[in-house]
Amino acid sequence: MSTKYDRTNSKLINKSFRRYNSIGEEEIAEVNQVLQSGILSDYIGAWNDKFYGGKYVKECEKFACELFGVKHAITVNSWTSGLECAVGSINLNPGDEVITSPWTMSATAISILHWNAVPVFADICPDSYCITAETIRPLITSKTKAIIAVDIFGRSAELDQINKLAKEHNLKVISDTAQAPWASYKGKLAGTLADIGGYSLNFHKHINCGEGGIIVTNDDELAERAMLIRNHAESVVEKKGVINLSNMIGHNFRMGEIEAAITIHQLKKLPKLAETRSRFGNRLVKNLKVCDLIKVPEISTDITNVYYVFPIQLVPEKLNASREQICKALEQEGIPGVQRGYQNLHMLPVFQKKQAYGNSNFPWLDSTVSYAKGICPVAEILHEELFIGLSLCHYEYTLEDMDLISEAILKVLSYFKA
Ligand SMILES: *Cc1c(COP(=O)(O)O)cnc(C)c1O
Repeated sequence: MSTKYDRTNSKLINKSFRRYNSIGEEEIAEVNQVLQSGILSDYIGAWNDKFYGGKYVKECEKFACELFGVKHAITVNSWTSGLECAVGSINLNPGDEVITSPWTMSATAISILHWNAVPVFADICPDSYCITAETIRPLITSKTKAIIAVDIFGRSAELDQINKLAKEHNLKVISDTAQAPWASYKGKLAGTLADIGGYSLNFHKHINCGEGGIIVTNDDELAERAMLIRNHAESVVEKKGVINLSNMIGHNFRMGEIEAAITIHQLKKLPKLAETRSRFGNRLVKNLKVCDLIKVPEISTDITNVYYVFPIQLVPEKLNASREQICKALEQEGIPGVQRGYQNLHMLPVFQKKQAYGNSNFPWLDSTVSYAKGICPVAEILHEELFIGLSLCHYEYTLEDMDLISEAILKVLSYFKA
């Protein structure tokens, strides 16, 4: 048996793919208007009518409310900032625990640390790659105050179960839907299923304005707090007559008018762009589910997956090669955007050393939360050995490209069949 992939019978995919680009003439024209107005941001960090932003920011938020069917949509300068507003909005005390996923961008967990609370990592489900009520439940302690569920790779976490569990324990639920705008779960839009959630508008996501984010919530008080944190809360609360909140400190997380103008048009395109990714991913599922050497997502009527990344899981007992050999072969066939593994946030030095602020162990102090290898066995084995991601938001594709990519995957897998 040869361990080196033999590609003498020529590579299947010989084209190069254009970079995914959601920006068009509409955005260019609108940005020109903003530039000509000379007003690139119309916020004031004091309590007056410009506390909530300029014309485009307000218009963008109004449109986002309609699109996502929520009471409040709050723009921010990144979804990292949005997460920080969301975590800040639920009023944690230092040392409180927030349960989240190790399979997400670091910002999800770090937003917890920024409010001096302690991230606790629940394992992911090997089918959805999301944390679930079952993996969260054993981690709930008297210190647990919230859950940040992450809708990873374009599909919603099982929010009905998670919300139910949260209700039993009086926990808030935050939804990190950076990778799944317009995904739906049991007929509702991902991001809107939690107490507070939101989306990223960074350059790599389904829609973008360069850097930006949108928070969504139906809760008036959480919205108010998030907007205070966005714009220098401390200088505003008293003048604003805020009496039912504890003292607050804020940031400058404000979105500029140019980004807001771009975002309005990006939001208009979101349903179409997301549905296109859905079709691509579902085509890969249809083509690949016949192969028992890998596991691909199931198509379910409960879920619309918008496939930020198409997840593939190797079935090791049926293959005679390592993930690295398989990925190299996939790349040799011309498949772009092949990702080996994903994340294991609990293994980051900040958690391994429990050190985030200077030389102190704050906010862990007397915390017994563990970040030892082994706490998230599913996430770990998938990250280290079995998971391959195909980026679907990085290149412009057609359905025919999906067929070609499927053919190349099946060709490589059949070569490495045990
Ligand atoms: C992109 C991303 C973020 C951060 O969003 P930014 O807008 O880049 O700050 C957070 N969580 C997840 C899951 C992401 O994919």
